[in-house]
Amino acid sequence: MQEMILLKVGELALKGLNRSTFEAVLLKNIRRRLKPLGEFAIQNAQSTIYVTPKSEDVDLNEAVERLSQVFGVAALSKARVTEKRMDAILKEAPLYLEDPLLAARTFKVEAKRADKAFPLKSPEICSEVGGCLLEAFPHLKVDVHHPDVTVMVEIRDFGAYIHAGSLPGAGGMPVGTAGRAALLISGGIDSPVAGYMLAKRGVELTAVHFASPPYTSERAQMKVVELLRQVACYAGRIKLLVVPFTEIQENLREHCPQDLFTILMRRFMMRIAQELALENQCQALITGESVGQVASQTMAAIACTDAIAQMPVFRPVIGMDKDEIVTIARKIGTFEISIQPYEDCCTVFTPKHPKTRPSLEEVVKAEGAFEWENMVQRAVAGAQAQMLHAD
Ligand code: ATP
Ligand code: MG
Repeated sequence: MQEMILLKVGELALKGLNRSTFEAVLLKNIRRRLKPLGEFAIQNAQSTIYVTPKSEDVDLNEAVERLSQVFGVAALSKARVTEKRMDAILKEAPLYLEDPLLAARTFKVEAKRADKAFPLKSPEICSEVGGCLLEAFPHLKVDVHHPDVTVMVEIRDFGAYIHAGSLPGAGGMPVGTAGRAALLISGGIDSPVAGYMLAKRGVELTAVHFASPPYTSERAQMKVVELLRQVACYAGRIKLLVVPFTEIQENLREHCPQDLFTILMRRFMMRIAQELALENQCQALITGESVGQVASQTMAAIACTDAIAQMPVFRPVIGMDKDEIVTIARKIGTFEISIQPYEDCCTVFTPKHPKTRPSLEEVVKAEGAFEWENMVQRAVAGAQAQMLHAD
């Protein structure tokens, strides 16, 4: 009998969204994520997706790991499928659940009868399976309140499924159901987390990174690529645009007051990112800013950068403490990459005493010090694109 994976689709996530769109996108994302592991049969019925490997040598634990990162899945379980007959269920349950039950002291059985044609009712299934397991594992006791293992028997359309409980899925909405946005990504901790959070709501990401060679190195760019590959475990494919930013930074340094350097740089990032966003069918920008974290993230400074934007700017970590952001970064596997010490274009020219309360008026005036329109166009035109995937 075969081992497979059951995925439960979040019912709440379906609210307000066409169910068939939601499911079609989710199935596509699941297929894409599983493809490198081998061939699978994927069926979808009644808010449950059945993922069955077509050959023996597929790494099912790796498949579970990958599927636990797919947004739109509420819960998942590795399960054994048998025929819908009580004798088959009673034969398979002790065999399949041997490892978890040997390690447990207490258990309970829950049954779900989605196929109402099955002759036994749920309580009868529970008592038969429970009795059989007590006989096979005499050390076990039943505990209906806090069992070490909950044995599930689900009688469904395609068969009977036996498993030892569910793992939480990634939640959220399937990526691709909520449009596309441009993520301004540095090599830091915050922006990859910001991208992850919007992807969780179904937003597909295009990433924009500003590089200032020779002040910033090839390695710093590789770090961004590595970060995005990790975010792509959750967000699916991500197009990265690397923007040449040296000319603008050098001119800012030469022509503008030092204490406004960072804020002016931010405004140029916004200008350029916005043009690239429009070219790439993005409807919003995403940044990893958090109020008060650094001088360029005071409310006054954010007001100055926001003034450039003519599309929504999402800042999903705006109200989070650094340690809260770090917790998410660790969970999604970006933290260890982010803390590698490669210089970012922000740090290269950063002034010692940036102004924390710039006024829009003085900032606009400072920008008048040099002709930058063509520089912005050159930066937009010079952006280098590459497509990034998780492995
Ligand atoms: P992060 O950890 O995301 O780098 P941070 O706390 O270091 O954040 P800043 O360096 O001030 O903050 O950057 C604020 C935001 O500006 C970043 O979250 C990111 O969205 C954007 N940003 C900064 N540097 C770059 C860059 N080189 N390319 C693209 N976006 C950038
Ligand atoms: Mg940074």
